[in-house]
Amino acid sequence: MESLEMDENSLADPSVEAWRALPVAQQPDWPDPTALRTTLSALSAAPPLVFGQECDTLLDRLGEVALGRGFLLQGGDCAETLDGVGAESVRNKLEVLLQMAAVLTYAAGVPVVKVGRIAGQYAKPRSQPTETRGGVTLPSYRGDAVNGLEFTAEARTPDPARLERVYQASAATLNLLRALTAGGHADLRRVHEWNRDFVALSAAGHRYERLADEIDAALSFIRACGMSTSALRTTEVFASHEALLLDYESALVRTDPDTGRRYALSGHLLWIGERTRRLDGAHVAFAAGVSNPLGVKLGPDAAVDDVRALVDRLDPLRTPGRLTLIARMGRGLVRDRLPALVEAVRAEGARVVWACDPMHGNTFTAPSGHKSRRFEDVLDEITGFFEVHRALGTHPGGVHVELTGEDVTECVGGSDEVLSDDLPLRYETACDPRLNRGQSMDLAFRVAEWFSA
Ligand code: PEP
Ligand code: MN
Repeated sequence: MESLEMDENSLADPSVEAWRALPVAQQPDWPDPTALRTTLSALSAAPPLVFGQECDTLLDRLGEVALGRGFLLQGGDCAETLDGVGAESVRNKLEVLLQMAAVLTYAAGVPVVKVGRIAGQYAKPRSQPTETRGGVTLPSYRGDAVNGLEFTAEARTPDPARLERVYQASAATLNLLRALTAGGHADLRRVHEWNRDFVALSAAGHRYERLADEIDAALSFIRACGMSTSALRTTEVFASHEALLLDYESALVRTDPDTGRRYALSGHLLWIGERTRRLDGAHVAFAAGVSNPLGVKLGPDAAVDDVRALVDRLDPLRTPGRLTLIARMGRGLVRDRLPALVEAVRAEGARVVWACDPMHGNTFTAPSGHKSRRFEDVLDEITGFFEVHRALGTHPGGVHVELTGEDVTECVGGSDEVLSDDLPLRYETACDPRLNRGQSMDLAFRVAEWFSA
């Protein structure tokens, strides 16, 4: 779909708007262009959600990862929902990231950069523009930023007012995250507390509890040696989402008055999805024009030449950490397809973060009709990813997973096994199936084992 011309005074810099002249995939058919324009003007005048300096900090952290001195843990919902923004759900998501990071930091001995799929992950690319049920065809659900999940004509009609609600919801989520991380909740000395509700219930929780005991003992030792552990009081958690709706993203681009650099300030890290990464497309042009650290998803059909060209386009200065390449090949293809890409990127002299998304290549439809993923497949893709990097002598830089802090039953398997028959019990995702808390912890323990193997 063609996107709207902006009015003259909305965004001054023409290079930010260059994407508008290019083919732009996966945009909604907004029924009311005037309402869209009004919303976008309001967003253009609104305060940014994050700050450029924070994006630079994340770039530095990812630069360390790219150079082999850290690990990226990126995770959260497939699709956040406006109704899902509550103190408890945000805290639960944060806790599971903190617990996973504690496992990785302690058991694998590597600094972990924590990035949520959070505070902006409200727009979804779809394979089909419409969905048919019982003879009725309606627009596909494109995320709460665009329309509603409910299968009615009213809910499925794109509504630009949702963009403002997404902005507000993202602001509220970031506010909670900042309060929880700066206010002491993320203090490593509270490593046991993050587990409180969870431990009694699960095998993964018990395993975590033992590790938390060890961390406590290590901290006591440090203090007994006369050293302070007060630096552990706060931690950094960054926000990321797929930069899909370019009207929304453009409206939140700001130029730093001190440095003159431009950032997409809807989140710290933005990524380009598998369906929107064509080289001559609008999404790549948009991303090339901002200074944020960027992700790009790479499916099993990503061509070596395309990946080379993406690197040239998005990381022309070869800045370590500017690019995170997120391979989502599927367990059956990762060992076959990933090596050529890793070698080509290395030959280009780019220092990227290689991350493994073990979710999107391993989706199947269960007999009950639920979209699901097998935990064993997820682990197998990560194993393949580690094997490839080990064989090439490159750094397996991170994982990118869909997870939630709740005890949902969306993916099958795990140490507290979710069976295929259990899927209907708590299947709550608005889009793709997520790892529950126990499965997320299992995954962290396994990654820590591979890392230190
Ligand atoms: C996603 O991350 O939810 C997604 C749609 O991924 P991909 O672009 O890799 O299919
Ligand atoms: Mn998804």
